[in-house]
Formats: sequence, C-alpha cells, structure tokens
Amino acid sequence: MAITKLNTYQPLTEQSATALAIGLRIFEDGTLLTCEEIGDGNLNLVFRVLERETGKGIIIKQALPYAKVVGESWPLTIERARIEASALKLQRSFVGDLVPEVYYSDPTLAITVMEDLSALTIARAGLIKGEKYPRLSHDVGTFLANTLYFTSDYALHPFKKKEYVKEFSNPELCKITEDLVFTDPFFNSETNEFEEELSRDVQHLWDDFTLKLEVAKLKKSFLTEGEALLHGDLHTGSIFVDQNQTKVIDPEFAFYGPIGFDIGQFIANLIFQAASKTDEGETILYHIENTWNVFSTAFSRHWKESGDAYTKVNGYLEYVLEKSFQDSIGFAGCECIRRTIGLAHVEDLDAIPDKERRLQAKRTCLTLGKELIIKRKQIHSIEELLSVIKFHFE
Ligand code: ADP
Ligand code: MG
Repeated sequence: MAITKLNTYQPLTEQSATALAIGLRIFEDGTLLTCEEIGDGNLNLVFRVLERETGKGIIIKQALPYAKVVGESWPLTIERARIEASALKLQRSFVGDLVPEVYYSDPTLAITVMEDLSALTIARAGLIKGEKYPRLSHDVGTFLANTLYFTSDYALHPFKKKEYVKEFSNPELCKITEDLVFTDPFFNSETNEFEEELSRDVQHLWDDFTLKLEVAKLKKSFLTEGEALLHGDLHTGSIFVDQNQTKVIDPEFAFYGPIGFDIGQFIANLIFQAASKTDEGETILYHIENTWNVFSTAFSRHWKESGDAYTKVNGYLEYVLEKSFQDSIGFAGCECIRRTIGLAHVEDLDAIPDKERRLQAKRTCLTLGKELIIKRKQIHSIEELLSVIKFHFE
C-alpha cells in the first residue's frame, strides 16, 4: 500500500520514504531508488530519494512532533510542515527559482516533497571555508523585497492579507523566537550557553536596563506588527548557494511580522562571518551593503508600480523604508547577541580554532549587537551602518 493513502501521521523511515516517492510516481515505474536521511537540522527529518541510474533526486522533509535536537521532551506542532510548504509555494510565486519547487505536500504526514538542491552548498558552510558567492546579496535582497512587499498590506487586498495572516498563524514557532532571540539571552536563563570567560561581558548585558528596554520594544514589534509574511529564520544555514544561484529553504518559522526581522537576521549572520575572518571582511561588508540596497531599490520599485491612494502619499514609502531599516538594525543586534550567548550558536564563531581569537570575535559580536540595538534610530543610511560595523572590527 502506498503511504500516500495513510490518513494518520507516522514518522517516515528510509523504506517508507522510498515507498512514498514510488506512490507519488515522481520516478519512472520500476526504476531503482536509494534513500538516505540527510538532515543536519535541529527539528526535522530530511530524506533524499535518488534514482540510481540517472542520479535524479528529490527531498522529502518531514516534521517530527518534537524538536529533533532536544528529543521527545520538547513537543512541537507538526503544523509547521503545512506552514513551510505553503510558504514555499507562495514565495515561489513572487521570487521564482530563488526557492525550491514543491512537488507535493501533505499536512497529515507533515511532509514537503521538494527539489533536491544537493548540488549546492549551504551558504554558512561555504562562507566558513572561504568560498565567494557573488550573487548571494543580490539574490537575498531580491527575495526579501519581493516576499515582503507582495505579502504586505501595501500590495494585497485587505481580505487576502487577513486570510494569509490566519493561514500563517504560527504561535509555537514564534514562541521559540520570542524566547530564544528576545528574552533568554538578556536574562540569566537556563537555556543560555557561553564560555566561562565571557561571564563578565554577559553580566554587563544583563545589568544594562537601557539595552533591555530597547530589546523589549523590538520584541513588541515582533509580537504585534504583522506587516508582511516573514521567512522567520533567514540565517545563512537556510540558504543554498553556488556561484550562479541562490535558494532560500526552510521557512517553517514563517508568520506575519515586521519587515525588518528577516533583513536583520540575514545581516547579523553576515556579521558573524566578518567577525570570524581576519581577511575577506570587505567582501562580507559588500554583501551587507548590497543586500540593503537591492532590497530597498526593488521594494521601492514594487511600491511605485502598484499600491493605492495611501502609497502615493508623499513621504510614506520613505517612512516605511526608514522604519524597516532601523528595525533591521535592532533585530540584527538581537541576533548578534543571542547567537553568541543563547541556546543556538553559529559555526562561524564556535569553530574559530584559536581560543583567544574566538573569545575576541564573540566579544565583538556582543558589543556590536548592543550598539546596534541601542543606536538603531541614530543610524540613517547603510553607509553609516557599515561605519559602525567596521569600527568594531578595527
Ligand atoms: P531543519 O528545519 O530541520 O533545520 P532544513 O530545512 O534546514 O531542516 O534542512 C536540514 C538539512 O537538510 C539542510 O541543511 C540540508 O543539508 C538538507 N536539505 C534540506 N532541504 C534540502 C533540499 N531541498 N535539497 C538538498 N538538501 C536539503
Ligand atoms: Mg528549520
């Protein structure tokens, strides 16, 4: 019996994932298939089913009813698979090949069957190795402009927008972000993890009430400002790349939130690269600058090409861009801090082999993160943001 006929959830195995691929008739009848679970992520199973003869593959991603990294003690809704598949399809209608094609999805089994991107590299891994990806910031800037503009009130009929807000209501995954990005790192929470040597730096952060108030304001924005459908987890581990293409994956955290959130997370993850390198900083700074420039240019173009009476009001676009820019800086600051001392770290920093250099890079991320959060409203252009970042790396 093909597993597609099952109407209850069960975790797939390599055998049942293969049976599913056969049942879906994605491959020719009778062809020899191999299957491997390749997921290196924290939350889900990822199977790669491969046709031996042609090397043609597909990916079957399945949500488990708990977070894989923690185990069954951390239950997590499999609804996130429906959200991921729907987000990928909607994003694809706005960005084409910048996201993988979804061949099939089934919310009961919590699976998304999609394009196999194994020929590409996860951006974080490639950047750590020193690879250059000339298209990265242009493609991510375009992804951001298109997905954020075309899912916002500036583009959609209000009924459609509210339908999407309902469809992408994602409370459990949002709670993870609310806790791990905006709360835990700023208090002495059990989830935090950092080197003993950073204790004093961390205590300084926890004692800083100005910082905490600004983080509270950013958290409020994340909680309440349903401006656009966010990816929700746009770090360099969610991006496949090679020299010629970029594909954004893994939007299981998608929900309606503030435009600056995705932009800020991506910028912060570029900052970790700059912090981890003694050279090549310029390339990374260029990517930060270009991401914002491509985003704001394309967003403005979309705005001017469509919209209603309000979007024509003088200064409104500039207001939205400036607000998004300052939010991006603040959210980038939160990401800088939480990836350094919170629960989920990044390889860019943790894998710096020399201990002193590693601690130094982490301290830089903490002080820079704090400055970005506190001074975000005094930074008015991408050039000014680059000067602030550069100052911390000198
Ligand atoms: P999680 O949400 O569990 O973090 P991801 O979507 O990030 O899962 O996928 C985990 C890993 O599985 C990725 O880092 C990548 O190695 C692999 N993977 C995911 N999607 C694809 C794909 N479409 N093609 C090839 N490999 C993929
Ligand atoms: Mg994920």
